[in-house]
Amino acid sequence: MPDHHIVAIANQKGGVGKTTTAINLGAALAFGGHQTILIDLDPQGNASTGLGIDADKRTHTVYDLLVGPDSLETVAQDTNIENLQIVPATPDLASADVELSNAADRTRLLRSKLQKVESNKIILIDCPPALGLLTVNAMVAANSVLVPLQAEFYALEGLSQLLTSVRQVRQTANPGLRVNGVLLTMSDYRNNLSQQVEADARATLGDLIYPTVIPRNVRVSEAPSHAKPVLVYDPHSKGSAAYRQFAVEFAARLNLNLEAA
Ligand code: ADP
Ligand code: MG
Repeated sequence: MPDHHIVAIANQKGGVGKTTTAINLGAALAFGGHQTILIDLDPQGNASTGLGIDADKRTHTVYDLLVGPDSLETVAQDTNIENLQIVPATPDLASADVELSNAADRTRLLRSKLQKVESNKIILIDCPPALGLLTVNAMVAANSVLVPLQAEFYALEGLSQLLTSVRQVRQTANPGLRVNGVLLTMSDYRNNLSQQVEADARATLGDLIYPTVIPRNVRVSEAPSHAKPVLVYDPHSKGSAAYRQFAVEFAARLNLNLEAA
């Protein structure tokens, strides 16, 4: 699927900024005029909640896309942000892992539903905090993987596990899979450990690490309870500025144009 822009946002650790990145990157791309669809692939449904999709509006979900006859068009719904759609998730997605474990094509379910996506659309897949069947489905469907990495002591160890999974998927179901990059998140510049981890990560991984680092910022953590990306909740916050800058770098890696806002 060479012309598609399907990016899995993955890290098997929870709480590292996957969902926050998915929501704010999605919003920034949408603000820049790019038609973007965020697929919430986490049974916790944080991306759905964070974009204001209440439980009663989750009638067509990613579960229906994976195991039912639904197409992307029937499960993607509009958000309050122009150009940004979401495929919401509900807790029943958790059972998909078990239900599908014996299906012959179990790792290619999402890929088969994304085959016909138009190349002008950007698809971001917010993965759950595990390297199970759901994340594998995302990696098999994607052109590349974006890894949010929280600057903390064991971060690089976890990253090597994730990169092993990427390699396995590349050797089997999806030879074209690339690593889009690693985004350092929740960085605290007053903290020596954050700086040390960033230095180690840059020394080990070089240009794979995005130049922009997302700082720990209280406005970012407040935004989900207002059901908005921080880009909308407080566009003037440090967190918003960092996510806008990151989005420009991200778009460049996809050969897309995004004006710095
Ligand atoms: P994941 O999807 O990897 O589990 P989240 O994006 O949900 O991680 O982030 C975990 C928690 O940290 C959430 O409560 C979120 O609001 C908060 N958070 C994420 N990024 C930041 C940040 N840059 N500054 C402050 N809080 C953040
Ligand atoms: Mg999440």
